[in-house]
Amino acid sequence: MESERERIKKALLAEIEGMMEEMLEWEEKHSAPTLVEIEEVVLKIRQRVGQRLAQFLVERQGAARPVPGPVCPHCGKEMRYKGSSPVTVGSRVGPLDIRRGYYYCERCHSGLFPPGPATGIEEFPLE
Ligand SMILES: [Zn+2]
Repeated sequence: MESERERIKKALLAEIEGMMEEMLEWEEKHSAPTLVEIEEVVLKIRQRVGQRLAQFLVERQGAARPVPGPVCPHCGKEMRYKGSSPVTVGSRVGPLDIRRGYYYCERCHSGLFPPGPATGIEEFPLE
């Protein structure tokens, strides 16, 4: 029986393998690339790998729904879970498209995707 960890590792490796395939296809089409062209291809792959791994780790961290919900940073009241929403967050490895649990304060009419400051993810008002 395959462990959850093995299954996840295989899925991530399959995605990275796809990127390697693209790189090898690119190499076949470019018989004499310049160093700058090679750098551009490699930097793009590096960015995609970094974004994918960061996306994976951020989503995993947000997968556990905190009970009780987080406390509103404005009024201190417990925030209500409103389901998960797609969100793009900025990061040092580039923008990350992730799904996060969204929490809303009825009193302040503001929401956030926790954990916030701990992972450097800012608040993203939806409306
Ligand atoms: Zn509030």
